[in-house]
Amino acid sequence: MRPIHTLVWHCSATPEGKHFDAKDIDRWHKERGWAGIGYHAVVLLDGTVQPGRPIEKVGAHVAGHNTGSIGYSYIGGVSADGKTAKDTRTPAQKATMKRLTIEAIRKYGLKRVAGHNEYAAKACPSFDIRKDELGNLEGFKAGRR
Ligand SMILES: [Zn+2]
Repeated sequence: MRPIHTLVWHCSATPEGKHFDAKDIDRWHKERGWAGIGYHAVVLLDGTVQPGRPIEKVGAHVAGHNTGSIGYSYIGGVSADGKTAKDTRTPAQKATMKRLTIEAIRKYGLKRVAGHNEYAAKACPSFDIRKDELGNLEGFKAGRR
């Protein structure tokens, strides 16, 4: 197993309320010339988790930081008109994202839980994880290195 110290959260950058899944993302990422889906898991609108790239394989989700990290994505992240970054997480997605984050902290001994926007000038995942419950779980501080 490769060492994993960081979980990076992403969004699919798709319009609020529109259903997409891991198969769609797999297709989009292949169209970019990647070896299939770059995330390790996808959280659907209803909170269902779909597996992406196997955890033991390095992902393709955060330029320069794929080694040592895993990348999870929720479906959404853009307003319904498709134009503006927006935190579109449903209550079911928030609950699943919290569960997945806690599981990853415990399983991999993560040192950091971050949003993609902490590594690049991007809106993704369309919220500030440092001010979010995900970045402040059980005394676990986002940004801890
Ligand atoms: Zn991202």
